Amino acid sequence: SIESDPTTEDTLPPPLAGVNVMNVVVVAAECAPWSKTGGLGDVAGSLPKALARRGHRVMVVAPRYGNYAELQDIGVRKRYKADGQDVEVTYFQTYIDGVDFVFIDCHLFRYIEGNIYGGSRLDILKRMILFCKAAVERIDDFQVPWYVPCGGVCYGDGNLVFIANDWHTALLPVYLKAYYRDNGLMKYTRSVLIIHNIAHQVCSLPDEGRGPVDDFFHADLPEHYVDLFKMYDPLGGEHFNIFAAGLKTADRVVTVSHGYSWELKTSEGGWGLHNVINENDWKFSGIVNGIDTKEWNPLLDVHLTSDGYANYSLETLHAGKPQCKAALQKELRLPVRPDVPVICFIGRLDQQKGVDLIAEAIPWMVGQDMQLIMLGTGRQDLEQMLRQFEDQHNDKIRGWVGFSVKMAHRITAGADVLLMPSRFEPCGLNQLYAMMYGTIPVVHAVGGLRDTVQPFNPFNESGLGWTFDSAEANKLIHALGNCLLTYREYKKSWEGLQRRGMTQDLSWDHAAEKYEQVLVAAKYQWSLATVCVEL
Ligand code: ADP
Repeated sequence: SIESDPTTEDTLPPPLAGVNVMNVVVVAAECAPWSKTGGLGDVAGSLPKALARRGHRVMVVAPRYGNYAELQDIGVRKRYKADGQDVEVTYFQTYIDGVDFVFIDCHLFRYIEGNIYGGSRLDILKRMILFCKAAVERIDDFQVPWYVPCGGVCYGDGNLVFIANDWHTALLPVYLKAYYRDNGLMKYTRSVLIIHNIAHQVCSLPDEGRGPVDDFFHADLPEHYVDLFKMYDPLGGEHFNIFAAGLKTADRVVTVSHGYSWELKTSEGGWGLHNVINENDWKFSGIVNGIDTKEWNPLLDVHLTSDGYANYSLETLHAGKPQCKAALQKELRLPVRPDVPVICFIGRLDQQKGVDLIAEAIPWMVGQDMQLIMLGTGRQDLEQMLRQFEDQHNDKIRGWVGFSVKMAHRITAGADVLLMPSRFEPCGLNQLYAMMYGTIPVVHAVGGLRDTVQPFNPFNESGLGWTFDSAEANKLIHALGNCLLTYREYKKSWEGLQRRGMTQDLSWDHAAEKYEQVLVAAKYQWSLATVCVEL
């Protein structure tokens, strides 16, 4: 387990001793600000910069989905086999905040315009196979990877660690082993696989990482590797599962919170992979995501500099937050009233996020003196539901269907309460953003939400928000009811909740230190294993 694993806790050498400075290559299907559908994109944009601040040499590799500004074509052209054909790939690069961002360009990434995971299941699979091959530079003559020059210098094999993210890039550890390690190359290169959301491989069509066993032949691997991918479930029978192979092959696995790492080991939480996860338990660490404290900072937030909004900090909270609230009410054409609690929801509209629980609670909510603002995109029936709420309760509810980073910031600043009734939540970022803005979270105590929102205790004035312990509308109503009571009647307690939330260190620096421990532990673990085998 995480706590008792001696390699990650007591016996670590201090960070940044010269020999532990790592060459880190983060490979992800999305990377903010260029491409993002959720938390994975945020992590790929922020964690690398925090690792670079700790002195590591860091590269991010992502697909080039659009014509991103200020990228340089580094003049490297390579050809990889994809779908039985040779496909030419070009590498672009930019250097920001100490990180080399490398973008892989090829026609397969271009046609999907606006939808990173667009196309059929096989289309996505083939794109991800090509992307992973290009990221490890697997070419037939076994050329060592990362001969793509960044700033004129190549990343070498020394202290090299690849960080793969979710099922999309879970082939990466497998390719490293099959193409290199099995051939005596890259012996000391490690791979870490981050689980952001295990459910995407099964439940969000067509974003699927599993299919018929025949899919294996697209992956271009030695035949005996097929067993790594084979999974069996009582409903679907035998199938091909990329995440399973990645979990078995990676040197270490990180989940985006402690709570999630435990839930994954249960039959409900593991989405068919709990056995693989339990067998590889020793590799697991739970590390709560950090947040980008420049982007999500009420004092620096660029989305609060116009239209009547205001930047604020803990010191100016009493004036700045009400100003944002009034600006938000005005912008959304809700009655401008400082005293009415504004409750918000921001996120993907799907089963995971528990929007249907909010729907069930709506009759109770509209009976209260409150305003509800929901921002999200996703399932069409749920999008329709948001619009309907707004039509039916125009004086109290706004249902904004769309993906708007600007509105996400403005709502987070202007609202009093953030509702997150997720059925499961690997980490969750919105509750962290909310706390930075003095907005109090009311959450289902699950995964990362349980890790990050300690329940308010009125007896000793501690805690950060309200939690409820099962995904049911009446539990949500109970928690929200207590929250609204405190908002109305106990101003001092409310201010205490805001202050404790705003003064937390939720930066990536903290999380990056923990990631560094995992990277260094992987390095030593492998060296020890190699020494033992050689002895
Ligand atoms: P997940 O990765 O499961 O979607 P997270 O809470 O980890 O959930 O991250 C979601 C990210 O996407 C946050 O940065 C959130 O603000 C953003 N987001 C989600 N939906 C929207 C939307 N409709 N408009 C703007 N940002 C959104």
